[in-house]
Amino acid sequence: MSLKRSLPLVLILFFVGIVVFLRQPDNGGHRARSALIMGTVVDVRVYGEDEKRLEKALDEAFAEMSRVEQIFSNHIASSEISQLSAATEPLVLSLETVALLKRGQQIALQSSGAFDMTLGAVKKLWNIENNRSRIPTAEELADALEGTGSGALVIDGTEVRKARAGIMVDLGGIAKGYAVDQAVRKLREYGVRSATVNAGGDIRLLGDKNGQPWRIGIQHPRQQDALLLTLKVKDQAVVSSGDYERFFEFNGVRYHHIFDPASGRPARQCQSVTVVADDAASADALATAAFVLGPVDGLKLLEDLPGLKGLLSLLMAVC
Ligand code: AMP
Ligand code: MG
Repeated sequence: MSLKRSLPLVLILFFVGIVVFLRQPDNGGHRARSALIMGTVVDVRVYGEDEKRLEKALDEAFAEMSRVEQIFSNHIASSEISQLSAATEPLVLSLETVALLKRGQQIALQSSGAFDMTLGAVKKLWNIENNRSRIPTAEELADALEGTGSGALVIDGTEVRKARAGIMVDLGGIAKGYAVDQAVRKLREYGVRSATVNAGGDIRLLGDKNGQPWRIGIQHPRQQDALLLTLKVKDQAVVSSGDYERFFEFNGVRYHHIFDPASGRPARQCQSVTVVADDAASADALATAAFVLGPVDGLKLLEDLPGLKGLLSLLMAVC
């Protein structure tokens, strides 16, 4: 693809795909725990001398992520987001939910609508997460897209109104990153200075590892055991969006879980995007947005972001 050659190599590395995982020796002075949260295995490792304190911090971090899941999951009927999706009237939501919706709206604006939290009905049609996937008809997609995009959610104080009752909200592109940030906040609160939180590739590093940066391996998405490179990162988030995470194939075509809001179909320009930023929620939403925008506009988004530019140190787009 001639496009590849025209893009700045410093910021973009072209691979077939990327998944991020942590590479660190498992030596003493740490505690590790994993759990299934938001449909993803979340792995937290905390480092330090006081093992009791480490255990307590892990308890608190996991409790916090479960709390976040209860608010934002669209698999939990009582969650605020499920209630908003089902609502036919304006709904008063918590300050926390409104704040996350506003952050998402800001990234939607910055990405010219590529990041879209109102694709819940589209997601439901494809059913990619449930192993009962199917390709929706054009008519079904048009119905699901009706009223989505900018203006779909009107926020007034803590009251949220949908432009159309049928609009379904989905925070799948940002909530995992937010949960990771909240976990790190808890770990800090309980005195942890060195930790890694990895929610299925949404990673945040707290501090460093014995004075050295964390080493994060970037794995080839189409060749499970191949490592493409290792990043050295401290005190930042590394988040990937990819077409290898959740997908099905039909007639040789891969249908995955990141949708182009313009068509309601899987975005086709990238296979993976990795963003390094100061916080995981921003990195999460920006990776999803850049994935949809593709290498040229995606990179431009990350370069141009007013006020956010300094957050991004690396983008790897696979196209
Ligand atoms: P991520 O893995 O962070 O890229 O997020 C993918 C998830 O975000 C999907 O499973 C959907 O729940 C949701 N999603 C899909 N397409 C979009 C989009 N264009 N904007 C925002 N969220 C999306
Ligand atoms: Mg995301």
